[in-house]
Amino acid sequence: MPRAARKVAGPEVSVLRLGHRPGRDPRLTTHVALTARAFGARRLYLEPADPDLAARIADVVAAWGGPFEVVGVSNWRKVVNDFSGPVVHLTMYGLPFEEAIPKLKRAREVLLVVGGAKVPSELYERATWNLAVGHQPHSEVAAVAVLLERLKGVPGPGAWPGARQAIEPQARGKRVNPVASEGSAK
Ligand code: SAM
Repeated sequence: MPRAARKVAGPEVSVLRLGHRPGRDPRLTTHVALTARAFGARRLYLEPADPDLAARIADVVAAWGGPFEVVGVSNWRKVVNDFSGPVVHLTMYGLPFEEAIPKLKRAREVLLVVGGAKVPSELYERATWNLAVGHQPHSEVAAVAVLLERLKGVPGPGAWPGARQAIEPQARGKRVNPVASEGSAK
């Protein structure tokens, strides 16, 4: 299978996930990380840090490619304040997200912020945009997926940079090919 060049469109996106509880059920944050990576984000900032989760995602990157990293942070305010592009807080209370997409597409980099059960109220003030993906409660995973799909599209098949393996799409069944190096999949 030839190595398809990974088409990376749109701004560089980072995701900041608040309200993670290391040691508790890690599945939701893991799914935020996997979804962010799969739909083209560059990194996940996690407050508080979770080295075990970061290591598990690094294993996924080693197998399926990147670039993507999980960066533990001790102070989300610093991430938000230091960010040079628009900061988008995803919340069901915000404005309809479609309004902001044309402006966000023109930005060089975008920070998406998702919470857990609650988010600090000052985030609503610090964010450039408070945006809703529909005005019903759902999930941080869904909110990240929809925003990334609109900003960057869904990557097609083909090996990602640094991948050990890549899926060859099948009408039925599963086929995963090893990737030799920076060349094509064997
Ligand atoms: N009351 C929350 C809110 O402000 O959206 C719902 C909490 S939900 C369990 C956890 C996270 O999912 C939220 O912090 C938000 O980032 C995201 N989320 C849930 N529903 C959303 C929606 N309709 N639009 C955008 N983000 C949403």
